[in-house]
Amino acid sequence: LTLRSRYARQEAFTGIGRQGQERLRGARVLLVGTGALGSALAENLVRGGVGHLTIVDRDVVEFGNLQRQFLFDEDDARLAHPKAVAAARRLSRLNSDVTIEAHVADVDRRNVAGFVRGQHLVLDGTDNLATRYVVNDACLGASVPWIYAAVVATHGLVLSVRPKVTPCLRCVLGDEPPPGLLPTCETEGILAPAVMAVAAVAATEALKLLVGREAALLPGLVRVDVWDGVLEVTDMQGQAPSCPACTQGLFEAREVNETELLCGSGVIQIASRGKQQPDLPTLASRLAAIGDVVSNEHLLRLRAKGAEITIFSDGRTLVRGARDGAEARGLVARYIGS
Ligand SMILES: [Zn+2]
Repeated sequence: LTLRSRYARQEAFTGIGRQGQERLRGARVLLVGTGALGSALAENLVRGGVGHLTIVDRDVVEFGNLQRQFLFDEDDARLAHPKAVAAARRLSRLNSDVTIEAHVADVDRRNVAGFVRGQHLVLDGTDNLATRYVVNDACLGASVPWIYAAVVATHGLVLSVRPKVTPCLRCVLGDEPPPGLLPTCETEGILAPAVMAVAAVAATEALKLLVGREAALLPGLVRVDVWDGVLEVTDMQGQAPSCPACTQGLFEAREVNETELLCGSGVIQIASRGKQQPDLPTLASRLAAIGDVVSNEHLLRLRAKGAEITIFSDGRTLVRGARDGAEARGLVARYIGS
């Protein structure tokens, strides 16, 4: 099988062509979050022959993800595979030409610049606005284009952002709204076909950007609703970037949260901030007497008395079965020690 025959149908489309395919092969893309949208975006780009894909995700595969997160299977959920690792394994089987790099980490204001540096494009596969503003600001700072994509229930939004050329997320949505203001897939639910429709729009915008067809980009915010049959583009053509971040480099950055509720799972994350790295094998043998322990090279998961605690090798912790951050920290202190 030659490279040429592999991508023949994509090259035959005049919007891509042989030249576009070559550019795609030289492209480096960062995908932040590989849940539902991230799965679909990654699969499209990897099958399409992007050169280098870096995946960052902070979460672990669960059975409740399988309805819409197309890269994962029941083994991934049973064995508590980190999403980044499970996605990379699956993607490398789809196309061995693509170099895939996986990071099990939470993207925040402290580490985002390192992930964005050297990329040609950043894709949004996250499930929360806080991380999107972090990505938006880092991309403005590094002059890397990025594509915002969000989906909930049966509808979603897509926006391509070219720093200093088109309006950014802050220009369009204003300053970061406080947590809890907007609907999430936790409260509204989500249909898999809606994910596919939104990902289809975002992945097509990504292809345009990567092959240098900027003139073909949709001219503003795209709204999709698969239930009501909507594909609507708000024309912002010619509108200049206007927010203080775009025009003066001023960002109203929120503090990094110590604890945070992850979307769609009822799981609370406790940041690893300055903690020592845990000794997972020692912890695993100690905790085996207390409850049900699953561990692999990336993490350890304890289930005991209705609570579930997942501790990653970098010290970051996810807690299920707690009502709030304080209770989550209490559970960790009780079982793991602080
Ligand atoms: Zn802006």
